[in-house]
Amino acid sequence: MPIRQLPGHLINQIAAGEVVERPASVVKELLENSLDAGAHAISIDIQAGGQKLIRIRDDGGGIPKDEMALALSRHATSKISSLEDLEAVVSLGFRGEALPSISSVARLSLFSNTGESAWQIDADNGQVSELIPAAHPPGTSVEVHDLFYNTPARRKFLRTERTEFGHINKWIRRLALARPDVAFSVSHNGRSVLNLKAAIDNDGRIERITKICGEAFAAQSISVQRESDNMALSGFVGLPTFNRSQADMQFWFVNGRSVSDKTLNHAVRHAYRDVLFHGRFPAYVLYLSIDPTLVDANAHPAKLEVRFREGRSVHGFVAQAIEHLLKDTRPGGHNVLPVSSNVISSAVYQQSSMSLPSSGGATGAVREALTSYQALTNVAMTEAKLPEEGAAPPLGFAMAQLAGIYILAENDEGLVVVDMHAAHERIVYEKLKTLFDDKAVIRQPLLVPTRISVSEAEASLAEDSADLFVRLGLVIDRNGPTSLVLREVPALLKQSDSETLVRDVLSDLRESGTSNRIEDTCHDMLATMACHHSIRANRHMTLPEMNALLREMESTERADQCNHGRPTWTNISLAELDRLFLRGQ
Ligand code: ADP
Ligand code: MG
Repeated sequence: MPIRQLPGHLINQIAAGEVVERPASVVKELLENSLDAGAHAISIDIQAGGQKLIRIRDDGGGIPKDEMALALSRHATSKISSLEDLEAVVSLGFRGEALPSISSVARLSLFSNTGESAWQIDADNGQVSELIPAAHPPGTSVEVHDLFYNTPARRKFLRTERTEFGHINKWIRRLALARPDVAFSVSHNGRSVLNLKAAIDNDGRIERITKICGEAFAAQSISVQRESDNMALSGFVGLPTFNRSQADMQFWFVNGRSVSDKTLNHAVRHAYRDVLFHGRFPAYVLYLSIDPTLVDANAHPAKLEVRFREGRSVHGFVAQAIEHLLKDTRPGGHNVLPVSSNVISSAVYQQSSMSLPSSGGATGAVREALTSYQALTNVAMTEAKLPEEGAAPPLGFAMAQLAGIYILAENDEGLVVVDMHAAHERIVYEKLKTLFDDKAVIRQPLLVPTRISVSEAEASLAEDSADLFVRLGLVIDRNGPTSLVLREVPALLKQSDSETLVRDVLSDLRESGTSNRIEDTCHDMLATMACHHSIRANRHMTLPEMNALLREMESTERADQCNHGRPTWTNISLAELDRLFLRGQ
């Protein structure tokens, strides 16, 4: 076949392959256009999962009569006009592709009114009609009929009406979270399914999040507010004890754009690393505002991903901001309700199956922190005598021990139940971490140095990063083009597989220029030690000992959950007890 120029209609249909995957992508593109046009209220009518009809009406600025035909043509946009504009783009759209792509795979009608008069233009199979007068209030409506009617191969990939509407709904919710100041109303097959009024203040924003993410999330999340020179982070993160079996309640907005981004997701995961139950996912709604020149919005045809110019500083900023908040997940810390009993029962908690570590890895200082519980709590006991006079402390005062496992205490609200092993485990772990983090990593020479063969590039990287390796507790020499010799390792990790560790650190360095692996691995070791050196079930405790433990929990970072993310305590209020006994009914 000779080379030939493709006809415009076919070019649009090819572009539609990237932009219009399914009805939900049409809804997303049209909503973004409405938001870009400054809409305050958007109404969305869907029929048959979007395959029959998608109608989006907004009260935005409208399209001037003589630009309506242009809006439907390829690479025509009012949002950028130069490369400089693109590099600092703040609008959601800028590629000028959505309307022509959609109209090449559906029958599209565009109605618009900039405040003077209303006009309609239709496009069908590449043919654009004449403008005709219409009845339409200021703003714009786009109607998309019979999606994929002329591209049977695409139509075959559509799922059931319900599934397609599910995808549409997901996008509407995302954009509704992105812009709480805009009202949204949604109907499917003539039935109203969602009505969100515009938020005018912080209460309104919280109401929006509650409507989209549910009351449980709203009641058990902490608000985020952090700024640096060129970034600001806001939104809500769920308490570690409010977690999900899937990553289905994680929303990231970068300059108002809903995105999925590896750097951002990893930063959050990192912040939750030792407070989350194994295999569970945190829930969050986070908004990052960043100087638009530091982010490339043009990294994906449907603009679902972004690229950060300085990924590492974004990662550090986000991880630190959230970690800082999560430190305060301790009794009396954040002003949110503690884990409610239904949340506990809905999560499947299993007993940790870690094997007993040989405490041989513990250095002197660490060993000290692991001495008897009695010594650990003496100071706190003296302090405990002081809160006896004022108002009750957050966890109240111990009354009894139940089944050798739980401490029962009374506070201002009612009954407090504490899992004493889980709580003590966190206390010991945080102490060990502080000891460990305050000191330089203690190294220990290997009796027999380990030879590691690597690629030439890795050998050079190791050579160039020798200082960093020493700080991480690894002493490595290069003794050939593709060969390294490991001479010293962190004392705490001397029993682990150091060759794999070195390889992993090297690949971290190559990927991101930095590595948290040694710190994380050391913390894992400390967590294991904490677990095995904490008070076990069936250990009798006196009331002063129990009170000392409660006071330590209140002053220990992250004490609301143990090292494995299990909750350490819960509160059963008098009102709840009254309900149980049908009191006052
Ligand atoms: P892009 O959004 O990338 O500019 P589109 O194909 O989505 O490209 O839209 C083309 C142009 O049509 C936009 O730049 C905008 O000027 C105009 N437009 C589209 N939808 C609307 C709307 N709802 N309100 C006002 N103008 C709109
Ligand atoms: Mg657009």
